Amino acid sequence: MRAAELDAADPLAQFGAEFLPAEGVSAYLDGNSLGRPLRASAERVQELINGAWGTGLIRSWDEQWMAEPLRLGDELGRVVLGAGPGQTMIGDSTTVLLYKWLRAAVALDPRRSRIVLDTENFPTDRYLAAAVARETGAELVWLRPDPAAGVSPEQVADAVDGRTAVVLLSHVAYKSAWLADLPAITAIAHEAGALVLWDLCHSAGVVGVALDAADVDLAVGCSYKFLNGGPGAPAFGYVAARLQDRLEQPITGWMGHADPFAMGPDYRPATGMRRFVSGTPPILGMAPIADMIRLIERAGLPAIREKSIKLGEYVIAEVDARLAGLGVRVASPRDPERRGAHVTLAHPAFREIYRALWGEGVIPDFREPDGIRLGLSPLSTSFAEVEAALDAIERQLR
Ligand SMILES: *Cc1c(COP(=O)(O)O)cnc(C)c1O
Repeated sequence: MRAAELDAADPLAQFGAEFLPAEGVSAYLDGNSLGRPLRASAERVQELINGAWGTGLIRSWDEQWMAEPLRLGDELGRVVLGAGPGQTMIGDSTTVLLYKWLRAAVALDPRRSRIVLDTENFPTDRYLAAAVARETGAELVWLRPDPAAGVSPEQVADAVDGRTAVVLLSHVAYKSAWLADLPAITAIAHEAGALVLWDLCHSAGVVGVALDAADVDLAVGCSYKFLNGGPGAPAFGYVAARLQDRLEQPITGWMGHADPFAMGPDYRPATGMRRFVSGTPPILGMAPIADMIRLIERAGLPAIREKSIKLGEYVIAEVDARLAGLGVRVASPRDPERRGAHVTLAHPAFREIYRALWGEGVIPDFREPDGIRLGLSPLSTSFAEVEAALDAIERQLR
């Protein structure tokens, strides 16, 4: 009843029809792991195969493809990241870009050899920092935040000093959805002379970021979550213009060369953002991202964030009203200002019941040890879907 009213009053409700329908799915609440495909993307990929690839063939590299990682990066920067042109590229995976950015950050100043990071960050971020530490002799400084919350500015202030090379954090924590205070933490790192590297995987496309305004140094993120780029879509990376010519990225492939087709004996980095590209751009993989950027621009990030908060508030109110009595806990921040776009619920029986949920077409995801994450994608998720998921969870628990 309440969900139907919320849907009727939702100014973004019409955008649901832009996505391909999924037969047999009554509630898709995992858009924070894999966003749904847009109808426009199905057409765009087909057109690309027939046109620029099928007919343009190798000529399309000269005509458009070579420029695509930086052109699309600029679009993403403008609409989603608050980044001026020439600072964003599309390519690689988040994992590979994290390695490139971390390695470059650690090499910048030989007097600074510490990486500050937290125990609750996504595994790939932690594993790579450990690998870069082994490779370079850098030292890891671990923050230990509350798992149901996240890293505070105070924790960062206590950990950074003249030995810190870089602070690596997620903007939105993948488990708890904690929304870190990006501007405050960036300023704290800078006061100590350190760089910041923000992982935007769970915020890009759903929580506004203003990388230039916050004076961020480095950022990376996925494009297959709230940017709906599709499975394994290439990642995006941001390097502030003021740093580009001072940073040396480690994967010095031909596509980052000042003159790739000279095919010369030695590597000479291109100027600007081009030097952070490594190999041949993933043209097919990039195509759907452009459609989602367009949709985000049409809807507007402030409206997207507003609906995201409403969806989260709806989940929490319903859990308090009918699931708390069954032992379900909210394992995400209750303050919407500190919460990203998913809500994690915890219950010891969730590991067993989430498979049953998938069986009936209700699709959240499960995170160890006992968390069900409800990923709320404001452009494709309706309140009715959320209600259907909560009904199913309640039924399963009973
Ligand atoms: C999803 C996610 C990743 C994934 O990286 P891939 O290289 O795309 O597998 C990395 N970091 C965070 C914080 C994530 O949420």
